[in-house]
Amino acid sequence: MSRTDFGPPHYSTLIPDIIKENYGKWLYHEQIRPGVLKHVSETGAELYTVRVGSPRLASIDFIREICEIADKYSKGHLRFTSRHNIEFLLDDKEMVEPLLEELARRGLPVGGTGHSVSNIVHTQGWVHCHSAATDASGLVKSLMDGLYDYFVENKLPNMVRIAVACCLNMCGAVHCSDIAIVGIHRKPPRIDHERLHKVCEIPSVIQSCPTGAIKPNPKLKSVDVNPDKCMYCGNCYTVCPAMPIADPENDGVAIFVGGKVSNARTAPKFSRLAIPYLPNNPPRWTETVEAVKHLLEVYAENALPGERYGEWIERIGWERFFKLTGLPFTEKHIDDFIFAPTTFRTTTQFNW
Ligand code: SF4
Ligand code: SF4
Repeated sequence: MSRTDFGPPHYSTLIPDIIKENYGKWLYHEQIRPGVLKHVSETGAELYTVRVGSPRLASIDFIREICEIADKYSKGHLRFTSRHNIEFLLDDKEMVEPLLEELARRGLPVGGTGHSVSNIVHTQGWVHCHSAATDASGLVKSLMDGLYDYFVENKLPNMVRIAVACCLNMCGAVHCSDIAIVGIHRKPPRIDHERLHKVCEIPSVIQSCPTGAIKPNPKLKSVDVNPDKCMYCGNCYTVCPAMPIADPENDGVAIFVGGKVSNARTAPKFSRLAIPYLPNNPPRWTETVEAVKHLLEVYAENALPGERYGEWIERIGWERFFKLTGLPFTEKHIDDFIFAPTTFRTTTQFNW
């Protein structure tokens, strides 16, 4: 029979024997130290996972390096978590310490479990995507360097998930992250009237705008943008290269806080705006790194043990969050003027 589906191999062919043998029998897991988890089965079997931070964009040399480590200590088994951490899966307790020593020798950080900042997920950035307002990978590299201690130690009230999306189309997980950084444009697209009718389909361009800000300009065989209606999303540039939106002077990032996915305890939460704008400042994005560190420090000092970022804010109230962090509350935080009287976002509901 000829093969018609060339997808990845079935996962059962790749997992360690200990996981296959104890499928559905795992009783609990515990953290032995930051980055090292012990999973215990009802059969008495023990599996150890050792979590290592990855640079997310991995070279072939790096992949070879981690495969070499896996061959030596975990019978060739490792996995990438959804946040691009690398986990070595060991069925032999005696191999855990030697593995940790080797990882330390190679400068690979162990952590990201428990009440830590795990690896930071991000989208593509300037290198790969057309509508990026910031460089997700460069910004995340700077953040990970700045937050190293939060990865290797458990010094937060609960886990903190951080994500970066380089535009508000946000193909990353920023809407449901404890701290979310979103690249933002702040000016409408610039229209190259000479070029537009040669490279773009005008009806598609008009349809691409979610706010109806684009109107035809038959005289120029082009389009016009109503700046009052434009929300700088860059959708039109996606379908029409004659409408570039990237702007080195005005693009930057906004920071949202308090989102999370659902878990066994509580429902999901959306992130909400904390800092409307910080400039792009490559290569180290100093302002953004300092702002995130500050947000973590205030949370660490004030939240109760076990509280996620958004749970802490809900308990103390948004007014107090802005007071404790010293962040200014501005009109930018009111994102729904129509319903402002009935939502938490209205200034009149804030009790300063
Ligand atoms: Fe592209 Fe936006 Fe996704 Fe970044 S977040 S990769 S700019 S769609
Ligand atoms: Fe419309 Fe977005 Fe283009 Fe502005 S940037 S004109 S809102 S599609």
